[in-house]
Amino acid sequence: MTPTAHFLSGWLVANCGGANRRDRAIITVAAVLPDLDGFGYFPEMLTQNRDVPIAWYSNWHHVLFHNGLSGLVCAGLALLLARKHWRTALLALAAFHVHLMMDLAGSKGPDGDHWAIPYLLPFTDAWQWTWSGQWALDSWANRLIGVAMLALTVLLARRRGFSPFEIVSAKADRAFVGLLRRGSSHAPQPEQDTDVKPPMNADTRR
Ligand SMILES: [Zn+2]
Repeated sequence: MTPTAHFLSGWLVANCGGANRRDRAIITVAAVLPDLDGFGYFPEMLTQNRDVPIAWYSNWHHVLFHNGLSGLVCAGLALLLARKHWRTALLALAAFHVHLMMDLAGSKGPDGDHWAIPYLLPFTDAWQWTWSGQWALDSWANRLIGVAMLALTVLLARRRGFSPFEIVSAKADRAFVGLLRRGSSHAPQPEQDTDVKPPMNADTRR
């Protein structure tokens, strides 16, 4: 599927337990990382009419980073960088694998080619994920899934008080959430770490 769809899927996984802005960003990025191996798209497109085109996209996309080892590296980086180390690492690993499942479901090429996931590379390509029901990358199903994920993202932002904009700018995030909540009884909330317990009140301290 498209990087935008993967981004939204990562954000939704991050909403399942990403405790703070930083960790949610890490989980979301983990869902997009496999497509870094699509770096050859533009060089290949620009040289397709040459006698010897640069075939980096054909050779490396769905090969370099669409495998289990890359998922483990991704989870390891999340473990190092996150505040809630283990929880974020597990969610990053989940987001990474949601990416693989989405590609498995809806990434059939325009020539009818089924994309396979060579999960055990670089050790062996003997076991590849394939699914005979795989639909086309530009199909209505992918558009429907994209719209559904976007709608859920907006609903969550309105309800929880943070959106994907927080990854790049807290100010833009507040403005977006404020716009969604305009006219509602929700008031914009500052970011809270969901694991931080509220202070005890005077009665419980006694
Ligand atoms: Zn992919």
